[in-house]
Amino acid sequence: MQVQIERFVLGPFATNCYVIHDDTGCWIADAGFDPAAMIDHVRALGVTPTHCVLTHAHIDHIFGLDDVRRAFPGIRVLLHDAEAPWLDDPQLNLSAAFGQPYTTTPADEPLRDGQELDLPGGPWKVLHTPGHSPGGVTLFSENAQTAIVGDTLFRDSIGRFDFPTSDQRQLINSILEILYTLPPETRVLPGHMEETTIGREMSSNPFVRK
Ligand SMILES: [Zn+2]
Ligand SMILES: [Zn+2]
Repeated sequence: MQVQIERFVLGPFATNCYVIHDDTGCWIADAGFDPAAMIDHVRALGVTPTHCVLTHAHIDHIFGLDDVRRAFPGIRVLLHDAEAPWLDDPQLNLSAAFGQPYTTTPADEPLRDGQELDLPGGPWKVLHTPGHSPGGVTLFSENAQTAIVGDTLFRDSIGRFDFPTSDQRQLINSILEILYTLPPETRVLPGHMEETTIGREMSSNPFVRK
């Protein structure tokens, strides 16, 4: 079976969370609000996700972590070091500002730039793409010709850089120097809204073009 990547749009921020699975296993990218539909779907597939990889630790990407951990005991949560304290800090993960202070157990493993994750559809290379948040990562699979980019790049837009921990210059650098060096045909699966490709955004993104 070829790798399947399924999108679930969760919660008040319409966060894209992805279930990635093939014959060898299953993993999840991000765990937004109200993940019941995603959990039920994974259960119906009859697979057990082994990892939940976080593109970053903003509230809309982590609020469902407790539910996911309860549903799939032993699942390993991966997050970049730069945001390691965020799961336990409602200010940093922005849940306090949203009015629903949220903390959860720390991640099980740190993500490092350049690391390769041997997960279905992969290997998935971890690319540190900070700017929207300091520990933002992109997961890139040459085999699947796919990049899961979190809130760094969107179809016709880019990630917000007005949060206290954001950095506009870093964000633009991450897009220009890292994402726009991926093959143009790479499918871009963002943290919000519809998918796009690297080539499409390189030529027509209104904010960052190459
Ligand atoms: Zn975010
Ligand atoms: Zn988001």
